[in-house]
Amino acid sequence: MRQRAARDQKRLDSGAVSSPKDLENLQKEIASLAKRQGDLEDVVLEVMERRESAQERVAELTERVGSVQSKIDDATGRRDAATSEFDSEAANITKERALVAGSIPADLLALYDKVRAKQGGVGAAKLHQRRCEGCRLELDITEVNDIKAASPDKVVRCENCSRILVRTSESGL
Ligand SMILES: [Zn+2]
Repeated sequence: MRQRAARDQKRLDSGAVSSPKDLENLQKEIASLAKRQGDLEDVVLEVMERRESAQERVAELTERVGSVQSKIDDATGRRDAATSEFDSEAANITKERALVAGSIPADLLALYDKVRAKQGGVGAAKLHQRRCEGCRLELDITEVNDIKAASPDKVVRCENCSRILVRTSESGL
């Protein structure tokens, strides 16, 4: 468009166009080309402004993605550390349990495992102040008397939840 306007201007300036009608047409065309050029320049400016604001938005979003990603990385790291801590703790407890289980008579261990499976993972409970710490129920007097009379070696169990009761000096017997 600029080239065309320059060409028109050159023709106008050269004096080669002499008819007033042609001269007028040429001037009109030059004016219209200048106007279109101005309009297009406005469009270009607007597009550049929009591109700039889009680039700013991209930069902002990229930064947010980076910050969220670093939070994810941090949380993942903490989760992995906690998982490995739990795993090693579980391995230790399993080892300790095996040691303790090895010192318990086989029939008592079998009973314990059977009750434990039925009672949500707790097969034995302390008898504390005449209360079964497994089901939290207080034993009735007959039960207490039976346990009192039982020899220390006898395995006594809660009548309510059937857990093995562990007698201590605080059992209230
Ligand atoms: Zn009980």
